[in-house]
Amino acid sequence: MQNYIAKFINNMNQIKEKKAATMYENVMQQYEQVANFIELNHNIKKILGITNNEIVVNFPVKMDNGEVKIFTGYRVQHNNALGPYKGGLRYHPTIDVNDARALAMWMTWKTSLAGLPFGGAKGGIQLDPRDHSLAELERITRRFTYALGENIGPDQDIPAPDVNTNPQTMAWILDTYMSTKSPSSRSLNSHVVTGKPVGSGGLEGRDRATGFGVFLCIKLYLASQGESLSGKTFIVQGFGNVGQWASHFMVEEGARMIAVQDAHATLYHAKGIDPAALQLHSAPRKGSIAGFTGAEEIDPSTFFGLACDILIPAALGNQIHLDNAGSIEARLIAEGANGPITKDGEEILLERNIPIIPDILCNSGGVIGSYFEWLQNRHGEIWSLEEVMQKIEKKLTENYRKVEGAVQEHGVDWRMAAYLIAIKRIELAYTQRGIFP
Ligand code: NAD
Repeated sequence: MQNYIAKFINNMNQIKEKKAATMYENVMQQYEQVANFIELNHNIKKILGITNNEIVVNFPVKMDNGEVKIFTGYRVQHNNALGPYKGGLRYHPTIDVNDARALAMWMTWKTSLAGLPFGGAKGGIQLDPRDHSLAELERITRRFTYALGENIGPDQDIPAPDVNTNPQTMAWILDTYMSTKSPSSRSLNSHVVTGKPVGSGGLEGRDRATGFGVFLCIKLYLASQGESLSGKTFIVQGFGNVGQWASHFMVEEGARMIAVQDAHATLYHAKGIDPAALQLHSAPRKGSIAGFTGAEEIDPSTFFGLACDILIPAALGNQIHLDNAGSIEARLIAEGANGPITKDGEEILLERNIPIIPDILCNSGGVIGSYFEWLQNRHGEIWSLEEVMQKIEKKLTENYRKVEGAVQEHGVDWRMAAYLIAIKRIELAYTQRGIFP
């Protein structure tokens, strides 16, 4: 009996380990499939199949109680053939070098697809922000920035907010980075990060750019089917930056948010949940939606199976997989999060004819906004919110049309179409330049 239990625990651990590794496996499987499909030059395939740099830093920070704690931070730089590395920083207990690799690779495809002069990177620190005071988070961020040194920079690698990081985090990084420069060159470095507060060189509208892009892609998709958002029902996983803004724009256009899930609770209300009221509830509660009285709390395991028109995963990766993809009732999935669907989960969804607007297109409004912020800082300009939103809408609509065209031309799904455009653009750059020396 004891042997049986030990074997069972061992099997369960193996399953857990397998699940933990799948985000990277997922990105590599996707890459392999696209590379074969487009017959990617075999030498370029080697280059893009591996990350350029993987920076791991262990650094000490003094906690509020005087104790010193060691933190581990990551920055993985996948590729910079098209320009400086670009990508978010995530503060989460599960972030590790494997996750950062996968996320960095997705960033390379995303910036390429968006037609931006950037490469791809991602990073973060293994921590749960809820375990730290604001003062500790500030010291952790500053010390991490210092440890990264010249691995980041406005023409080298430009971080941005991601899960559990925000404009305040970017302001600390900016200030720390600038403080290491001579006084006369400090102001030349404000584009070392994007997603900064507007008062510190940030872009009007960068806060809503990702959520707006998710909404816009859904709207364009429905329009191509002769439909509109009016009266449609949707569910959102994740009520942070992306989830909040996406639901704001969806509801503004007449759709109804019938369920929302975050790390703390799952809420349901058939008549619709008001995102503005939910945001007011969650803001003073460290972002938690638990305890909101405008909806009923339901069993989290029922979330993905809820009947709705549109599902927006806007939390973490690998949320939709082999075990739950079969139960999804939505007619359309719009990936606000990076890598929310595993490869085997996607196969089930595609077999069931549920279209997926892939992350590298669907949530690219954020990096497009970041590009405008970088450009604005570089040129010393200041743009209005209206101007910014128009620019994002124009650029994202053009990209959406390119992917839509590739879906039709090649008869492939949306992810494959987005990937093939992205990877071909990088292949072309390498083919034109050759390999040094
Ligand atoms: P955020 O930290 O603002 O919000 C994350 C949300 O996910 C929170 O509501 C949190 O409670 C929820 N969450 C965490 N774990 C969960 C779980 N196990 N189950 C359900 N919900 C859970 O982060 P964000 O900036 O909104 O990013 C969300 C996703 O969008 C990430 O995958 C990120 O990489 C991606 N993304 C963000 C941006 C951006 O501009 N912020 C751009 C592109 C892609």
